[in-house]
Amino acid sequence: MTTSVVLFTRDLRLHDHPPLRAALDGSRAVVPLFVRDRAVDAAGHAAPNRLAFLADCLRDLDAGLRERDGRLVVRSGDLVEEVCAVVGEADADEVHMAADVSAYAHRREDLLRAALNARGCRLHVHDAVTTVLAPGAVTPASSDHFAVFTPYFRRWGERPVRAVLAAPRRVPVPDGVGSRPLPSRRDLPGLSPGLPAGGESEARKRLTAWLRGGITGYADHHDDLAGDATSRLSPYLHFGALSAVELVHRARRRGGPGAEAFVRQLAWRDFHHQVLSARPHASTLDYRTRHDRWRTGAGAEEDVAAWKNGRTGYPIVDAAMRQLRHEGWMHNRGRLLTASFLTKTLYVDWRVGARHFLELLVDGDIANNQLNWQWAAGTGADTRPHRVLNPTTQARRFDPDGVYVRRWVPELAGLEGRAVHEPWRLPGPERAAYGAYPDPVVDLAEGLDRFRRARGLD
Ligand SMILES: Cc1cc2nc3c(=O)[nH]c(=O)nc-3n(C[C@H](O)[C@H](O)[C@H](O)COP(=O)(O)OP(=O)(O)OC[C@H]3O[C@@H](n4cnc5c(N)ncnc54)[C@H](O)[C@@H]3O)c2cc1C
Repeated sequence: MTTSVVLFTRDLRLHDHPPLRAALDGSRAVVPLFVRDRAVDAAGHAAPNRLAFLADCLRDLDAGLRERDGRLVVRSGDLVEEVCAVVGEADADEVHMAADVSAYAHRREDLLRAALNARGCRLHVHDAVTTVLAPGAVTPASSDHFAVFTPYFRRWGERPVRAVLAAPRRVPVPDGVGSRPLPSRRDLPGLSPGLPAGGESEARKRLTAWLRGGITGYADHHDDLAGDATSRLSPYLHFGALSAVELVHRARRRGGPGAEAFVRQLAWRDFHHQVLSARPHASTLDYRTRHDRWRTGAGAEEDVAAWKNGRTGYPIVDAAMRQLRHEGWMHNRGRLLTASFLTKTLYVDWRVGARHFLELLVDGDIANNQLNWQWAAGTGADTRPHRVLNPTTQARRFDPDGVYVRRWVPELAGLEGRAVHEPWRLPGPERAAYGAYPDPVVDLAEGLDRFRRARGLD
């Protein structure tokens, strides 16, 4: 019998946790460890909204472990040094952790394995903890990953999904391993006021409510901006407070078109993870270059500022950008249309938008964010890379009564129905009454022309 360290990263839960289960099966004691990794902060990924959510998750994980006679050990600094120090303090023989996909995660795993091996300690890396299937579990005949979603989804759906593991009853933790105090969201300035609470307990309540109710109408209503009819489980999935494997099993058990459509979205999540795992540079470089020479300079900077501040003069774009700032979250349809607006209508580099999203999104995730941005910019996996979403058409379709816009753009709250989508069309005196709201930063036809010329389409 041995002592094991379980290194938690973004798998902050006790239910369905293969590394924890493997460690408990083989050991007499386990050290559940989280390291606040200096390298993640140094890379600029320590956004306040996500730090707050992370703090909630760690507190909840610690509480769950204490109910099971354990506790969470929290350290901060260089991840490899801290894990090795804990291994020394606990006299541990092995470390268990979840596999992850980014370039940094691959490097971290290699460094950790080498450092642990040098001390005679083994690193066990577990697949299908963060995703449903491991990246590379299904591949096409001619490549190491799928570049198009539809054939990926077909193969993904044919593969068995591993069984869900129960939460452990007891987690015996040895004495004598030092821990720092748990972080708290109270210490963090600059949080979005509508930020959700984090943690596995909160996640499981939300999941139960979602499976009882919202999922039924998901296929029909997931694009309804005002209806807000999606699960909002993304931050819990990002931090691993929920297991994607468990979600697939429970949704399939629930059955019906809503559950099927929901499972398909979880496959999108796996899809982007397998792309990033095979092409780690896609977090910063075009996955498929279109030889763009994105706009820069004062004019572009002004447009970007208007976009970030929700003052482009296109109410549907501005509503979504304001939702992002207020909640640290944005509806998927809003993400699609604001990303298309920035990269195509304004012809600004997708990296500028992706960075802004990562500063605010509580679910901000390298695989999902960067690759969805690339999808929207036409440099990613979209099979129609030059499509441009017209914000007014999108508004009429996905916010037909203007409810979403009036919710987030109070300057226009007096405009009824779909008139709220095109304030620039109001007759002079009426337009003047809404003077606090800006005119459009660009004419849509001109923006489209500029984009098509830049891509060599005309
Ligand atoms: C420009 C852009 C940036 C995005 N950035 C992120 C991000 O940083 N983190 C993130 O989790 N999602 C991101 N998405 C995907 C998607 O918008 C969110 O996952 C979704 O809006 C979260 O809300 P929900 O949990 O209610 O989703 P639901 O509709 O309830 O879907 C269930 C789950 O499926 C997954 N999912 C849904 N759509 C996608 C998708 N297109 N790609 C990958 N996974 C998906 C998510 O984990 C989500 O929680 C981005 C999309 C775009 C267009």
